[in-house]
Amino acid sequence: MISKDLHIYNSLSNSKEKFKSIEKGSVGMYVCGPTVYSDVHLGNCRTFISFDVIYRYLIHLGYSVRYVRNITDVGHLEDDGEDRVSKKAKLEKLEPMEVAQKYTNDFRETLKKFNSLDPSIEPLASGHIIEQISIINNLMKKNLAYESNGSVYFDIEQYDKENNYGLLSGRDLENLKSNSRSLDNQDDKKNEFDFALWKKAEKKHLMKWESPWSIGFPGWHLECTAMSTKYLGNHFDIHGGGMDLKFPHHDCEIAQSNGHNGQDPAKYWVHANMLTLNNKKMSKSTGNNILPNELFSGDNNIFSKAFDFNVIRFFFLQAHYRNVLDISDSALKASEKGYLRLIELINKVRNLDTSDNSNDKLLNELKDWEVRCFNCLNDDFNTPMLIAELFNSSKIINDFEEKIGDREKKYFLDLMDQFLNKILGIDYGESNQINNDSVLEVLKEIRNEARLDKNYDLSDKIRDKLSEIGINLNDKD
Ligand code: AMP
Ligand code: ZN
Repeated sequence: MISKDLHIYNSLSNSKEKFKSIEKGSVGMYVCGPTVYSDVHLGNCRTFISFDVIYRYLIHLGYSVRYVRNITDVGHLEDDGEDRVSKKAKLEKLEPMEVAQKYTNDFRETLKKFNSLDPSIEPLASGHIIEQISIINNLMKKNLAYESNGSVYFDIEQYDKENNYGLLSGRDLENLKSNSRSLDNQDDKKNEFDFALWKKAEKKHLMKWESPWSIGFPGWHLECTAMSTKYLGNHFDIHGGGMDLKFPHHDCEIAQSNGHNGQDPAKYWVHANMLTLNNKKMSKSTGNNILPNELFSGDNNIFSKAFDFNVIRFFFLQAHYRNVLDISDSALKASEKGYLRLIELINKVRNLDTSDNSNDKLLNELKDWEVRCFNCLNDDFNTPMLIAELFNSSKIINDFEEKIGDREKKYFLDLMDQFLNKILGIDYGESNQINNDSVLEVLKEIRNEARLDKNYDLSDKIRDKLSEIGINLNDKD
């Protein structure tokens, strides 16, 4: 029997837990988004694709998912204390908001190429300054934050009297070192490991706002607390991000939320592991990075050829999201081979001459195979195991080739479409049974008729359901 029992590895308990949503039938998921100061690299893409598959699978399981993924356009500092977006604005002689817009566009376009679904809400940190100031006020009232020379810091020692700071990353107060993302003006702090909630801006600083303490800007960690609380509430289902964000970013978010409203923000913490190049973390700041377009065009001398975005996505998903993955020319070529083998199998079945003679034995084998595929996904979204199962189907097909009926052919192709296209997000070409575009046209027509009849319940339902699967209609549609 197909199981819907999903198990997720929770980084907070360091164990796989059975997933039970806080509210029956719906899931709130927050994923830390990109800092938009340069082109998104393949490492970033891997993380967002991991969460895209999680999002797709939760939708497949029937949950109504609110997926919030922010845009960090302010507050993420360089090691020298300068805001990353502001620094780039000076370099490119642009307004900081132009920089943010330019790289937000790049980010969205790139993820679209990878066939990732849009999140439900994509809030900007700079659009939530009021909410951030209000949280700081509350933390100060509770004596968990203090002002120093116009900046405000979270008081970890005070917080630790009633809570444990650092639980997510397994740290404790004794072994805390300074937060590497906010090294400037450390003299202001009571303790070097306290982190900034608000920073007084120096004159040269471009992005700044008024506050009760100074003209300044919010600390990086605070934006995620403000935006996740605003759109998902004080306690929501899943909080995700790259493994490198566990500390300090996510431990700080947990402390802020507990201090602010007395609750852990998320029930399940999910962390995607790093993409490496020559076994070193891919990173913008060290220059050890590859841009997706360099691979699509083959314009990078590490790689001998261009690779299709489907192949790159397939390559990512052949590793479990919690494992490190090293990218190389040979690894991508191996994935490409596998990917093409799978597409060949699908095309072979598409082109088989079948008859209306049903084959119950084959149908049962396909149903067993389907159960095994779902077991992989239910086991902490185990995409490499699922892909291995997809390959295994070739044996079933080969064993029965002569005796495949119309019914089994359709069953097999529908399942492939479901796993490979809808859940893994590999857009491998025209769907086998129906043309999605024509179905969309029919739905748009029904929606227009409903609107003319003033049946807004129906027209809104069509729009919302399409939006859940990543198709956004505008009012002209
Ligand atoms: P950033 O733009 O640096 O804030 O990063 C955006 C997202 O990409 C975060 O969730 C990071 O954890 C993630 N990320 C950064 N580098 C890598 C990498 N090499 N592999 C996978 N994810 C990464
Ligand atoms: Zn965040």
